[in-house]
Amino acid sequence: KLIVFEGVEGCGKTSQMQLCCQWLESLGVSVVVTREPGGTELGLHLRRLLLEKTEDKPFGSAQGEPVAQVTELLLYAADRSQHVEQELKPNLAAGKYILCDRYTDSTIAYQGYGRGLNMSLINQLNHIATGGLESDLTIWLDVEVEVGLARKRGDGIGLDRIEQETIAFHRRVQQGYAELAASYPSRIVRIDGSLTKEAVQQVIQGILRV
Ligand code: C5P
Ligand code: MG
Repeated sequence: KLIVFEGVEGCGKTSQMQLCCQWLESLGVSVVVTREPGGTELGLHLRRLLLEKTEDKPFGSAQGEPVAQVTELLLYAADRSQHVEQELKPNLAAGKYILCDRYTDSTIAYQGYGRGLNMSLINQLNHIATGGLESDLTIWLDVEVEVGLARKRGDGIGLDRIEQETIAFHRRVQQGYAELAASYPSRIVRIDGSLTKEAVQQVIQGILRV
């Protein structure tokens, strides 16, 4: 099964995925935890190019050459294509449970709603990159943009290139998730990400148990 975790910055995906993995393993389930971008060797290089923090003189910073929006879209698509072939398909074929941090909905939310790129182009690229592989379930951790960004600022790691985008950008991304959840109610489950870590995990376990 492919279970995807989605949401705006600081929504709690990473901690929830860790807890979920521990829980599934305690039940004897064989689990793989992975992410986009960066779930493969090639993907890690792409992740660095796409997301380096300002102090590392990033690609696409004010000091350097701007990244064209379609270039960014294609790099995320390249990461996904490699991830699907190298990581997702083989592990699904081996009968494993995959917990994946971001997938096709991130591209719709960030490059589509956030950047305003053409939705039919995005859908085509998602289809090419995945070969049609869809998630069995997508868990959307819904948290207010300000709450999530405050969590990110509080963790002391610094903000990456996307996290430094304007509030308006993050609000468009959030709107994207809301519209996706309304359009795909059987695939996407919304969970209130402002609940405590423990409460969110209880809801997730309740959903996966059935
Ligand atoms: O750890 P996190 O999921 O936040 O790291 C991924 C980063 O990549 C996020 O900051 C997210 O905004 C960005 N991203 C993006 N477009 C995608 C996937 C991820 O801008 N399609
Ligand atoms: Mg982030």
